[in-house]
Amino acid sequence: MRSYNALAEPAVDRRSERRGDADWLARRLADPNSRLTAVWRERSLVFDAHAGDQGPAPGMVPAVEARGLVEQAEEVVFLGEAEGVAYFSVDLSDREDPLAGPLRGAGRFVELRQVGAAMSGQGGNLLAYARAMATWHRRHRFCGQCGAATASRQAGHLRVCTGCGAEHFPRTDPAVIMLVHTGAAAEDGSCLLGRQASWPPGMFSALAGFVEPGESLESAVAREVLEETGIAVDSVRYHSSQPWPFPTSIMLGFYATSPGGDVRVDTEELEQAVWATRAELEYALRAREVRLPPPFSIARRLIDNWLRDER
Ligand SMILES: [Zn+2]
Repeated sequence: MRSYNALAEPAVDRRSERRGDADWLARRLADPNSRLTAVWRERSLVFDAHAGDQGPAPGMVPAVEARGLVEQAEEVVFLGEAEGVAYFSVDLSDREDPLAGPLRGAGRFVELRQVGAAMSGQGGNLLAYARAMATWHRRHRFCGQCGAATASRQAGHLRVCTGCGAEHFPRTDPAVIMLVHTGAAAEDGSCLLGRQASWPPGMFSALAGFVEPGESLESAVAREVLEETGIAVDSVRYHSSQPWPFPTSIMLGFYATSPGGDVRVDTEELEQAVWATRAELEYALRAREVRLPPPFSIARRLIDNWLRDER
């Protein structure tokens, strides 16, 4: 079976049928085995690795020990269950010091992008899920239809407007990321890499962009490539996806083929875009003239697989 992208390996059974069962949820929150994680201002709770660990672990405390946080939280999100253990999350962003009180000494709050690569796939997935839910709640406190306050329901998986009753469900914004290549194997093939002016010197990556309303994924791939580089794409093939809660996306990875052609860069989007053969890219990487995004990213996986001719 194909391996998962970072952050993508499912960590829990979401048990969506239990989200409306208040008695069951209360019992699970009172269960000494249940675990709670927290998000604080875009940062995730992690425990540092101990000897023999694969890497840092998702920060989880017994939910009963953090009862004070649960009682004060505006919303407690039921994430799901794994091996009989229920997992919940809360957002502590309103607190100046999230490690005061029940979480004292529990771990530290870090940017998931900095630790996700070192963490187990399931650990990263659980934190990505919790972070995405926290961001959604913070951004949907008021109804987009009538402006009244909304309230959390369904164990944090729904917000209902207190004015007009509109139901607002968690959102994730689709973004496409695509490695355009000429389709040829080995030394005959080239791929199209771009760089944004804000990136570190020498950094190049696959092209990417947001899917627009009323647009298919394959149309979004072709449009973004044409807009950013002037290159036409003739086929688009889905590869894999990755939750990308930075802040609210899912990355949908594709390979796209193109007959090639001269690049005309849209300098609003990119600073530079170039065709590179496998040999040219490998040489530039060895010479440290070019760097690629971290292995954590789906962009890197698309590029690495193409370099190995495993598309
Ligand atoms: Zn409303």
